[in-house]
Amino acid sequence: MTTSTNNRMNALRSVLEEQFQRHTTELTTLSTYGTVPEHNGHDRQTVLARIEATRQALADTANALKRMAEGTYGRCERCQQDIPLERLEIRPRARFCVPCQQTSGR
Ligand SMILES: [Zn+2]
Repeated sequence: MTTSTNNRMNALRSVLEEQFQRHTTELTTLSTYGTVPEHNGHDRQTVLARIEATRQALADTANALKRMAEGTYGRCERCQQDIPLERLEIRPRARFCVPCQQTSGR
């Protein structure tokens, strides 16, 4: 791994850690909303949907950080090819390379 790749990886880790913090805070806030039928114009259904989305994002972020610690971060979970750094910098939580992502339909 070159120095510049290392730097970019470190930057990605910072982004992921920051997102993890943000989603954790958001989930706490949303959970509070969830206990109130109506809160600041948020209807319960919307809040529940956002809780679900945030929970998923949090899980994906935690997973990315875990893979980073294990040294498997940046590898496509389907074809095991390296995902280009350029893609990871746009989508740090990406688990698949572009072709696999398109095939899986997500
Ligand atoms: Zn792939």
